[in-house]
Amino acid sequence: MAIQRKSKFEINLMKQAGNIVALVHAAMKEAVKEGVTTKELDELAFKIIKENKADPTFLGYHGFPATICASLNEQVVHGFPSNECILKNGDIISIDVGATYKGFVGDSAWTYAVGEVSEEKQMLLKATEESLFAGLEHMKSNDRLENVAGAIEDVAKKYNLGIVRQYGGHGVGRQMHEDPFVFNYRTNNTLILQKGMTIAIEPMLNLGCDDVSVLEDGWTVVTKDNKPSAHFEHTVHVTDNGPEILTKLL
Ligand code: MG
Ligand code: MG
Repeated sequence: MAIQRKSKFEINLMKQAGNIVALVHAAMKEAVKEGVTTKELDELAFKIIKENKADPTFLGYHGFPATICASLNEQVVHGFPSNECILKNGDIISIDVGATYKGFVGDSAWTYAVGEVSEEKQMLLKATEESLFAGLEHMKSNDRLENVAGAIEDVAKKYNLGIVRQYGGHGVGRQMHEDPFVFNYRTNNTLILQKGMTIAIEPMLNLGCDDVSVLEDGWTVVTKDNKPSAHFEHTVHVTDNGPEILTKLL
């Protein structure tokens, strides 16, 4: 499918979808604490999205059972929220959430520390967030998607972190997953970025090796060596003047 470039009108709706996603993350940041279950976080996210007259994009997507993906420690992405998953001091929890507003999707993930986390987990969070913003710097007209991927790869290498290879960013708009796919490392991609493109950039970096596997539930992705993984994502609009982050508070 050809890449869909969005009109001003469409970008405005995407900003509103993105704002709702940002409201959820603002609430998650406050709510993530020792003793809270990921099911409670899911219910809170659902409530905020509905209060803002939007729909949870993930709920029912290929059968996904929840509003958020809640992926703990060695879980990379696509973890199910659960009453049994109670956050503990020292955990890291990646929360990924999408909201659909008037037919347009915002998609953003953030990894939160629960209480006091180890120095290596702190480094992992800082480095993964840094890699996201290093990639975003290239989200401008006439830059190359390869430079986004390369900037993420370079930050991962600087910190000696594993890069998840099987998952990555994606175009986003009327659909949660549109073209192009965005690897988080160099692949000789020739795509030139143009204004109006809206793409979710989402590095997933690991304290250990690159390799991941999927649990028996068919969804939860974990690192093969069980070392912690972090995930940061923004939905971004390419403009002539640089990246416009759509999943931040208006
Ligand atoms: Mg996401
Ligand atoms: Mg995404």
